[in-house]
Amino acid sequence: MQSFNEHFDIAVVGAGHAGCEAAVACARMGLKTALFTLNVDLIAQMSCNPAIGGIAKGHLVREVDALGGVMGEVTDAVGIQFRLLNTSRGPAVWSPRAQCDKQQYRLKMRSILEAEPNLMIKQAEVANLIIEDVPGIPSAANGENAGARRAVGIKLRDGRSVGAQAIIITTGTFLNGLIHCGEERYPAGRSGEPAAILLGESLKQLGLRGCRLKTGTPPRLDGRSIDWTKFEVQPGDADPTPFSFRTREVAHANSQMPCHIAFTTAETHRIIRENVHRSPMYSGQIQSIGPRYCPSIEDKIVKFPEKLTHQLFLEPEGLDTHEIYVNGMSTSLPIDVQLAMIHSIPGLEKTEMMRPGYAIEYDSIDPTELERTLQTKKIRGLFLAGQINGTSGYEEAACQGLMAGINAALQVKQQPELILDRTEAYTAILIDDLISKGTNEPYRMFTSRAEFRLHLRIDNADRRLTAHGRRVGLISDAAWSDHLAKQNRMQKLTAVLETTRTTVASIPPQLAQKLADTGSADTTGATYAQLLKRPEVVIEDVVPHLRELMPEFFEGSVAGERLPSRLRNELKSVETEIKFAGYLDQQKKAIERARKAETRQIPEWFDYAAVSGLSHEMNETLKNVRPRTLGQASRIPGVTPAAVSLINVFIEIQGRKHAMAAGIRGVD
Ligand code: FAD
Repeated sequence: MQSFNEHFDIAVVGAGHAGCEAAVACARMGLKTALFTLNVDLIAQMSCNPAIGGIAKGHLVREVDALGGVMGEVTDAVGIQFRLLNTSRGPAVWSPRAQCDKQQYRLKMRSILEAEPNLMIKQAEVANLIIEDVPGIPSAANGENAGARRAVGIKLRDGRSVGAQAIIITTGTFLNGLIHCGEERYPAGRSGEPAAILLGESLKQLGLRGCRLKTGTPPRLDGRSIDWTKFEVQPGDADPTPFSFRTREVAHANSQMPCHIAFTTAETHRIIRENVHRSPMYSGQIQSIGPRYCPSIEDKIVKFPEKLTHQLFLEPEGLDTHEIYVNGMSTSLPIDVQLAMIHSIPGLEKTEMMRPGYAIEYDSIDPTELERTLQTKKIRGLFLAGQINGTSGYEEAACQGLMAGINAALQVKQQPELILDRTEAYTAILIDDLISKGTNEPYRMFTSRAEFRLHLRIDNADRRLTAHGRRVGLISDAAWSDHLAKQNRMQKLTAVLETTRTTVASIPPQLAQKLADTGSADTTGATYAQLLKRPEVVIEDVVPHLRELMPEFFEGSVAGERLPSRLRNELKSVETEIKFAGYLDQQKKAIERARKAETRQIPEWFDYAAVSGLSHEMNETLKNVRPRTLGQASRIPGVTPAAVSLINVFIEIQGRKHAMAAGIRGVD
């Protein structure tokens, strides 16, 4: 038996975006938790852009929040510019984004961690895992040897050992990290911080398959040396949308900072083209794969030579600093080239560079090594979350950290695990994609990865997930009763809209005018819900009459003034459910079918070659693997959700032909 210097229920290694969520979840679920990090001052450091959310990432933050995580609440407290993206498109893809004060983000997260009585924060380098053989524990269903070995603790570089019943590793880009800037390269976890070499080697020795990935960051500029008059201003929204369902109004609603839009020039492109051989990406110095969707500026110039200019965003890093992030200019070109390309942009001719951009290569673990709980298949009690699993992004890290934290805590408490379904959360889509298909490039979330986008909206994340958060103990009594009260208010609002009929006297004049302007026939007698199904009618048109019908809903707001964000969001959510009721019903049926399809058998005689729409490669893969169920087919790398839907349809079609050929009616 091992003896330890200290013992905790759970040890979390790494205090980035995954580690913070994991640690808070475990502590709030009643477990004595230790959070280890290389530098306590850099808890929740934003390694790259100080922004949270954006398309699909905003969905993940809402889901983290709905389950009881903290990223949304921190962002609402320290966001300095809020924008709801994609509002010209349907509500399925609306997504909040906030530029944050980078320093305040760290401090706010740290204060949340320090407020947890069960959570101890420790600055120390974790060098090794302590693993024991545990005979007699049943093997996992997947047939791998989970249970044969168990993680029982960690060894620190200073020699101390710490015991834990579960260990969650969230070490980001630190494992064997190697920074590249032009011809220079040196080991580091991120700029100014050491790489985690010992732990990287220790994980390799455990037999976990890994791969090497790469990411990059742009230079940061001194705002005092920028001629701001040369750029288009991009202000925040007048009515900022909070990330957290528990936030009433974001802290800096009335003191937001603008971003600015800039463009590269022909001269910028010339400088990059002439120096591209000095970029480690093109000199052969970097071999690993970076995020395709977030290419470096040199990649953009080489791959899209026809584009004469590229858009850049100059984004503030905080309220108390002049540091400016150049979004869109990620690069690992040498520093002299970085300066030249910055100076080639009108308005930046005299700009001082505070920090150069760089690329970093690091080790990640192949996520097919993981179960749905994010526990490793090979070592019981060992969970991995965040960038170590091959993802990129704070939000992708946070949702994994939360799920790993919840499941590690449930395991220690000997309670059933929490597995979300693809049809109920982007978080589940991310985990399912990773563990089924693995990834050979940094994985980020896109709304296109979801099969049922309209069902997975930012406004209904609480309806989808808060009951799960409550079950595992992450939603307090007060938050749960607020949640139930909100659902109650929204149900009443829906009922009023579905039953109240318009009359000439009661219809708000603004709405009557709009209907007249759009040439609508007389709508008197229609319910408000029926009117809301028209594309031109929005809930705001109905508010004046709703105020009379449901004064309790509008309590605390004044007619004619801006509605508080809580009311705006509830009204918009009800509007969406009414407007898209037809599509949502169709999706609900499709979701039921998808759930059945997961276990649906693919007959032995099924002919993939006869499925029109399947690519040649996919056809070959499926013929080789011959999956037994649609669920299994969907997890084969390269097999898309669309292909699975096709196979599902063709099981019916070929089934009928097969039955006819066999002379039997009704064989499936
Ligand atoms: P991190 O936030 O990296 O946190 C890792 C934590 O582990 C740190 O607290 C560290 O101290 C700790 N740690 C490491 N090793 C040990 C050890 N042995 N013992 C104790 N503690 C340890 N994302 C995007 O979405 N877009 C981008 O453009 C982008 N660019 C990036 C550029 C760079 C240069 C970097 C470094 C990252 C970039 N990212 C980008 C990724 C984003 O920063 C990460 O996805 C996110 O921070 C990952 O969160 P995490 O919690 O997994 O790890």
